[in-house]
Amino acid sequence: MNPFDFDLFVLGAGSGGVRAARVAAAHGARVAICEESRVGGTCVIRGCVPKKLLVYASHFAEEFEDAAGFGWTVARPKFSWPDLIAAKDREIGRLNGFYLRLLKDSGVTLFQQRGSFVGAHSVCVGDRVVSAAHILIATGGRPWIPGIPGSEHAITSNEAFDLAELPGRILMVGGGYIACEFAGIFNGLGANVTQSYRRDAVLRGFDQDVREFVGQEMQNKGICLRLLSEVEQIHRQPGSAGLNVRFADGTVLEVDQVMFATGRIPNVAGLDIQNSGVEVNPDGRVRVDEFSRTNVDHIYAVGDVTSRLNLTPVAIYEGHAFADSVFGGKARSVTHELVPSAVFSQPPVGTVGFSEADAQHHFGEIDVYSSRFLPLKHTLSGRKERTLMKLIVARATQKVVGIHIVGQDAPEIVQGFAVAVKSGLSKDQFDATIGIHPTAAEELVTMRHPVNRQDGRQGQ
Ligand code: NDP
Repeated sequence: MNPFDFDLFVLGAGSGGVRAARVAAAHGARVAICEESRVGGTCVIRGCVPKKLLVYASHFAEEFEDAAGFGWTVARPKFSWPDLIAAKDREIGRLNGFYLRLLKDSGVTLFQQRGSFVGAHSVCVGDRVVSAAHILIATGGRPWIPGIPGSEHAITSNEAFDLAELPGRILMVGGGYIACEFAGIFNGLGANVTQSYRRDAVLRGFDQDVREFVGQEMQNKGICLRLLSEVEQIHRQPGSAGLNVRFADGTVLEVDQVMFATGRIPNVAGLDIQNSGVEVNPDGRVRVDEFSRTNVDHIYAVGDVTSRLNLTPVAIYEGHAFADSVFGGKARSVTHELVPSAVFSQPPVGTVGFSEADAQHHFGEIDVYSSRFLPLKHTLSGRKERTLMKLIVARATQKVVGIHIVGQDAPEIVQGFAVAVKSGLSKDQFDATIGIHPTAAEELVTMRHPVNRQDGRQGQ
């Protein structure tokens, strides 16, 4: 007789937790999951999905402008932020319902409450204590704001999705994924956007050419990018709706909103994790091995709470591999190599594999193929926005080990080409592939001359 209420209890019904719960249940496990907020997690409720909807919304401004070059006369367009937020909320509500149904149809018991550890095999949900043979921590992450005086006046991405009105002037703090994406959203929707970042190019960790190129294009679109800039203090003027922001160089900027996008931290607060015996790093990260197992044999963790690679598809992959390993009888470890990703900045970035600098470090000799061009559409639209494409090839093996694109459809293009990079295809195999004309992506199979060789022709 099984002494536990469930075979698996999942803390957190986000991307990783829901996938793990469903797959474990499909393998025959008795599964429960708890969630204090709506089901779906950061990605669905206050992350990737609503963000992408807002990105679509903000693009229309340029589309209306570009249409003129193709013979259209467009009446002066009007935008309603409340209408956009209401439409977004309807879609998130629908998705929440979809996730609820998924769990129900999978036979997973849902506790719509916060859960916390009582012991290594027991969790408190509401006024109940529930026991489980295995426990999965999938509580995700939450925004982190540095302790700058006045930072309590600022918002994070959590609040940005539900602002009552579009701010006229907004300061974005940070140079990562979220800062670049929201700077583009607010700029496209008509706000006056300043972005403050403490280093000399946005998107640290990305290929250097990508960092410089996307920063330049963002500025061309009207974002005031303040590099090597640090916010020192935020002050609300008495009787005024505006905020005065003082920077380390002594300058002051008046804005209506300040948004911090200065990183996210693992969501372990209130979990009473010490009752479980699970070890947590000083930064809150739950430490796990390649099977997502913590130091306690029957307790696992997936997704942002482990802070390995904080991307939704990675959390889903980790959750699925965990469920297959523990309940499906096939041990599946997780590697985080050659994971493609995108920044939905404007223009967007798509990337897979090594940056030029990392490839040089890792492989020694490399060949770099690079191209910058004006997309066909902009020959008539008149827009000056260019596209950057870069291929990194390990010279010894001739394998393509990195692809980086900045430009329209970059995420869609890189998703496809990521299969080739993950499969270890060579530059010759790229060259043997016939392009589709006229597309931007054909450039990736037609670049013939490395730009970093003395004997090579420089890319245009
Ligand atoms: P990131 O880690 O990408 O960026 C954080 C930014 O804040 C960096 O520019 C960092 O600067 C800056 N920063 C950190 N501390 C301070 C400080 N004390 N003062 C000033 N600036 C500071 O985090 P995000 O919040 O943008 O996103 C969190 C994670 O969510 C991402 O890493 C990504 O994994 C995921 N995500 C993925 C998306 C996607 O796939 N499209 C979209 C959104 C999020 P520095 O570079 O100097 O450290």
